[in-house]
Amino acid sequence: MRRKLIAGNWKMNGLRDPGVALARKLADRARAAGPLGYDLLICPPAPLLIPVGEALRGSAIGLGGQDCHNERAGAHTGDISAEMLEDAGCGYVLVGHSERRADHGESDATVRAKAEAARAAGLIPIVCVGESAEERTAGRALAVIERQLSHSLPRAGEPSGLVIAYEPVWAIGTGRTATPGDVAEAHAHIRALLADLLGEAAAGALRILYGGSVKPGNAAELLAVAGVDGALVGGASLDAEHFWAIGAACP
Ligand code: PEP
Repeated sequence: MRRKLIAGNWKMNGLRDPGVALARKLADRARAAGPLGYDLLICPPAPLLIPVGEALRGSAIGLGGQDCHNERAGAHTGDISAEMLEDAGCGYVLVGHSERRADHGESDATVRAKAEAARAAGLIPIVCVGESAEERTAGRALAVIERQLSHSLPRAGEPSGLVIAYEPVWAIGTGRTATPGDVAEAHAHIRALLADLLGEAAAGALRILYGGSVKPGNAAELLAVAGVDGALVGGASLDAEHFWAIGAACP
């Protein structure tokens, strides 16, 4: 039984005010709710990791980074190592988000190196994959996912130390969501590929999240799709009520 994970990606949004207040609101709700049947995670911008981590302390909500460098330390101005994220209280880090792949030209090999660095630092990498609109229209969606997965997954480690996020690029921040049928097809394909790459047992244990315009209004339908083990949420994670409602929609 895979426990669902709802991860909020704040992207480059949020100053201390109102970012910390948002985290505090969610932490208060989580404490009041008692044990949850799913995992909640917030990935704020790097300058907010420490204050948001403090706001979340004592709640069941985890803290994650949005990216890490593949080296442990050194002359990489502006970058953040996985070890630094761990030191700041993170348990997870996103790697290979389509915005990183597009804005920073990150290749599958770079994403793999980051995922391996994350694991070496004791973090769980959330490896993001997904096709563009052009690739889907050309009928290449599954082939693109296959290429990304086979070249960007870390090469060793336990399935509990890895999460995959399927995020069709055309659905991110656009208000367009993949249909439950598209999501089911992609997730089944990903699970089969993982079985080839990592073995049946590991593939069965790994969590595969869906991401792309998940909102309170569509969360229940998407989270009920077979093989969907949670959601990676961008825009809706910036609103405490919306993010909470998405978690509460877990079946
Ligand atoms: C994301 O940032 O990964 C994402 C899915 O964003 P949104 O929910 O806004 O589409």
